[in-house]
This record gives sequence, structure tokens and C-alpha cells, in this order.
Amino acid sequence: MSRVNLLGLNRKAMGEFFTEIGEKPFRATQVLKWLHQYGVSEFDAMTNLSKSLRERLQVEAEIRAPEVILDQLSEDGTRKWLLRLPDGNAIEMVFIPEKDRGTLCISSQVGCALDCSFCSTAQQGFNRNLSSAEIIGQLWLANQLLGKDPKGERKVTNVVFMGMGEPLLNFDAVVSAMDLMVDDHGYGMSKRRVTLSTSGVVPALMRLKETSDVALAVSLHAVRDELRNELVPINRKYPIKELMAACRHYIDREGRRKVTWEYVMLAGVNDSERDARELVKLLKGIPSKVNLIPFNPFPETRYRSSDSETITRFQNILVNAGIVTIRRKTRGEDIDAACGQLAGQVQDRTKRRFRNVEVTQESI
Ligand code: SAH
Repeated sequence: MSRVNLLGLNRKAMGEFFTEIGEKPFRATQVLKWLHQYGVSEFDAMTNLSKSLRERLQVEAEIRAPEVILDQLSEDGTRKWLLRLPDGNAIEMVFIPEKDRGTLCISSQVGCALDCSFCSTAQQGFNRNLSSAEIIGQLWLANQLLGKDPKGERKVTNVVFMGMGEPLLNFDAVVSAMDLMVDDHGYGMSKRRVTLSTSGVVPALMRLKETSDVALAVSLHAVRDELRNELVPINRKYPIKELMAACRHYIDREGRRKVTWEYVMLAGVNDSERDARELVKLLKGIPSKVNLIPFNPFPETRYRSSDSETITRFQNILVNAGIVTIRRKTRGEDIDAACGQLAGQVQDRTKRRFRNVEVTQESI
């Protein structure tokens, strides 16, 4: 019998687990708090459980997070970890500290199936979905690795699903992990501080509205179908018009949500003044924030980033139309942690690291 990894169980699943083994439902709350609020990794540390229950859990359950293979710190403070999963696959996780917050960028899949032409994860192809334990395990692990700030607060204040993979193509596991992030017995984060980023899987986005209430980011990158088909091929299945309708649908509850649009700036491809003006038209009536992302190059890409002046011109058109537009700073470039640079060569690197016994968690 394989043991249940308790990290992956949200409040409901944890309740079911304890009912099934003949325990009282309040045990679920106790264990959730031990795992996610105190960050314990041993059942023996759960001192309000009886000794016999702890022994039983040791037999039937486990607490297993991904393991660190490699830990890199960028000059700008961005930190990237290469993590190993139980089956030997590897994923990446990035922490981006800022003055007023700390953002953890997590992965939802090993590789990605979407094949966006400007993204280096695409080159790796799709391997498999992460389990909810592997997704929440990233946050659990980051809290352990980073410790607390001098005020005793956790350093991770925000989570974004902007690592490897398309979260909406791993719907159940992602939603279950997000439940734990916002659950008061879990991480207790505000739903505004958990952001799901999608390239636009329309039916899943419609479903998300029924099950979740987190912040939404959409990787738009082009305002015309012809170009978006090329940059973000899932657009052929769910074209811009359908995507915009799904986004309106997602935010039309209580009217206070907004969509963050990600727009990678590719020189001569999607960065003209006409593109900017069409973007203004497209976003009309949708509470929006636009993130302009300078393209991060990777080996053998045919794209270049737009230059600074072009980005400013593009930004000004949006700002003058009243759209909040941020030019995203490129972070962690020196350690390949910037957008789209996650794990092109992970498999390769992982194998290399596994051979090198010196690089273990203890030695980092
Ligand atoms: N699949 C999801 C989650 C990945 S998020 C999504 O598409 O939203 C990663 C973000 O970085 C996306 O907006 C993606 O389009 C962007 N990105 C990918 N490659 C990039 C690159 N080389 N330079 C800049 N941004 C990139």
C-alpha cells in the first residue's frame, strides 16, 4: 500500500482521510495547522495527537516535499531552486524579494504542452502534471528554506503560478493546492495574493470561476489572432474573442476583480504603436493591469526584446488611455530565472547533478 502524502490534502480531503481511518474530523484541522502553519516535517512533532495516532500516521501517511538539488542566488536577490520529484523529474521554483513583498513563482507541470514560440519551457516538451502535494510542497519547502523575517513574518507573501507549465491544464491539483494557500487553517493568504497565470484555456477558465476566487493573469502577447496563433498556439483553439469573453466572465463577480495581462515585448513582432492602440480597444470595459515583459532570450531563439524606447512608447499609449501599465523589471537574469527561462535544460542538468554527489541539500 502506498502511503498518502498529507501535504497534498486540502481541508476537505484531509477530513475524508481522517474519517476513513476512523478518526474525528477535528484531527484534520490539527494536522493542517502542523503542516502548513508550523511547517513540521515529522509526525512526532505533532504533539496534540496521541502517540498511537502518530504511529499509525507513520505507517499510512507521509509528509514529502520536493527536494532541493540546486540553490542559486542572483545578484539582485532573486533565488532559484532546482527541485527533484520522487520519480526523478525536476522542476524549478523562484523567489523574488521586493521591498514590500516576497513573491514565490511555482510550477504546475513538468515541462509544458503549449509550445509558445518565445518560451524556453516549451522546448522541453510536456512530461507530466504535478500532484497537489508537489505543488503545495513548493510553498511548504520555500517557507522552510527562507525562514522568517525579523518581525517573525513569513517571507513568501505572494504566490504566482508563473513557473513551468499551464496551471489550467492541471486543474484539480492546482485548485486543491490553491485551496490550501487561502485556507485559514493552511497558509491563510489573501486570494488577491495568489495569482494563476494562464495562456487562455477557455473552458477551464470558465470552470475556475465556479471553484476559485484567486487573482487572474493572462498571457496575451498579441492583439490579433493571426499573430497570437503563432506566439501562443492554443489561440487556434480558443481565439482572442472567446478568451476575452471568458475573462469578463471570470471578473464579473462583485465587480472588483481585475485581469493582469502579460505582454512580452518582441522587437518588430508585437510592439508597434498600432498594437498598443489595438490593445487599448481590446481591453475596453475590462478592469485591467498590463505587465509589459522585456523578452528574455535563450539559446537558439529567433526573437529579440524590444528596445527601451519602444517599450516606453508602447507603455505611454496604454497609460494615456487610463490603463495601469507596469514595465516588468527583469529579475534573476544571471541565474536563468527570468520568465520563460525556467528549465530548458533541467533534465540534462539534473542528470549531471545526480552524478555529482557533492551537490545535495546538505551542501547547499
Ligand atoms: N502557462 C502559463 C504560466 C507560465 S507564466 C502562462 O502562459 O501564463 C510565464 C509567463 O512568462 C507567461 O506570461 C509567459 O508568456 C512569459 N514568458 C515566457 N517566455 C518568456 C520569455 N522568453 N521572455 C519573457 N516572458 C516570457
